[in-house]
This record gives sequence, structure tokens and C-alpha cells, in this order.
Amino acid sequence: MEPITILPHDHVFVLTGAGISAESGLRTFRDAGGLWEEHPVEEVASLSGWLHNPGLVWRFYSDRRLQAMTAQPNAAHVALARLEQALGDRLFLCTQNVDPLHERAGALRVCHMHGELTKSRCERCAAPPFVDERQIRDEASIPRCACGARIRPHICWFGEIPFEMDRIGAALDCCTLFVTVGSSGAVYPAAGFVAHVRQRPRPARTIYVGLEEPENGFFFDEQRLGKAAAMLPTLFRLTESP
Ligand code: NAD
Repeated sequence: MEPITILPHDHVFVLTGAGISAESGLRTFRDAGGLWEEHPVEEVASLSGWLHNPGLVWRFYSDRRLQAMTAQPNAAHVALARLEQALGDRLFLCTQNVDPLHERAGALRVCHMHGELTKSRCERCAAPPFVDERQIRDEASIPRCACGARIRPHICWFGEIPFEMDRIGAALDCCTLFVTVGSSGAVYPAAGFVAHVRQRPRPARTIYVGLEEPENGFFFDEQRLGKAAAMLPTLFRLTESP
């Protein structure tokens, strides 16, 4: 398949979803066997779930932490880290994933809009999130912040506002090429990014890479169907002149 040409004036926005980490052994949420089947979303990924049973929420994310510790980045993560090296700040790499596989592949400037598995924060005060790989398996072991409130996973749960939306909005406004990799296009606001860049006065070129047509597939100029690790290493061609 023809590579996507990146010209010197291009600004590239790449949005990744759970599909990019599937070949690293991390299950996606919605595919068959996905995590939601074992845990209803409202129990483990919402504020009401946290208030109702914080021990269960911590067990769920402690299991995810354990998996993420041993998971290795795949060729798709590596390809995007190389693209970052080549483009510098002309690439905005935004992930819905909470795993650390982009960083483990060498990416330095990843925007984790849904938070990070390897961090925790206070449930109440504005103390910044901190690196935390502890396993917490029952309510009695939940650590406390200096302010007295409980420590929670640094994850954006359903019903909460994703992180870094100002920076993401600015990058969406200036990108000339928008690529989504491995996302079902069902979780907003991320699923709406492609419509935003297509409906600007000067629309960006939009490309989807993943196993199957996403729910927001209508908004993509092009869909390249296949596994991320097979497609990404040869997806882009950088040129010096138009
Ligand atoms: P999703 O589970 O809804 O969709 C995954 C998509 O990836 C599907 O469309 C599927 O066809 C595609 N896919 C599966 N295997 C693939 C492969 N090998 N190559 C390319 N595409 C493949 O996930 P989502 O759209 O990211 O959104 C759901 C939420 O799930 C997000 O908020 C995200 O935070 C969370 N999540 C994160 C992780 C992680 O951090 N690794 C894992 C599961 C879910």
C-alpha cells in the first residue's frame, strides 16, 4: 500500500487507542473477551463505582498495573517513537491508553488524555499526580493524601473530563494530517476529534488504521484496515520537498 507522504509543512496529530497495544498482549475494552465483560464499566471506571467500592476499583487497576509492567511495546509503538524523533514537535502523539508502551518504545512527549496506570493522585485536593506502581487490593490498604482524603488511580473515568484538553484543542486546530490508530470511535470526546478536523475551514487529511471500520468511520478520508504492528512501520514517508 502507498505510504502516507509527510511534507515539511505538515503537522501530524496521531490518536491511538487500545488496538495499538493489542499485539503487546493488553486486551482492548470492547473486543470479544475485553475487560468490560468481566467488570461492568460503572463498577470500575466511574466516580460512583469508586465511591461504592474503592477496594474493587483498586484491585482492577492493580491488575492492569501488573500486566503493564511486563508488557513490551510492539512495532507500532516503535514506529511512532521514530516518527517523533524525525518530526519533533510537528508530531502531537495523543493516546487514550493508560499503559506506558509509547514511552517504553522511546516516545518522549506523549499526551495521555485518559491518564496513566503508573500514576496516582488525591481524590480531593489539587496535589499533582505522582508515579506509583503499588498494588492495592482492599479498602483498608488505600493510602491517604496529606490532606486526609484517599489516593485514587490517575485515570479519567467515564463522566470525568479528559486531561490536557487545551493542548489537544490547539494541536487539533493546527494539524494538517490526522491519523487514528486502533480505536473503535465510540468513546467521546476522542471519537469526535476526526469530525472537528474535517469540519474546520481548512480541513486536515484524515486516515484510520485498525482492524475494522470504526463507529466514526464516515469522517475518515481513508481507512487502512489491518493490524497496527504490521501497518505502522511502513505507513509514513517523509519528504523534504512537495
Ligand atoms: P476499544 O476497545 O473501544 O477499541 C479498540 C479498537 O482497536 C477496535 O476498533 C479494534 O477493531 C481495534 N483493534 C484491535 N486489535 C487491533 C490491532 N492489532 N491493530 C489495530 N487495531 C486493532 O478501545 P478505544 O477506542 O481505545 O477506547 C476505549 C477505552 O479503552 C479508552 O478510553 C482507553 O483508555 C481504554 N483502554 C486502554 C487500554 C490500554 O491502556 N492499553 C486497554 C483497554 C482499554
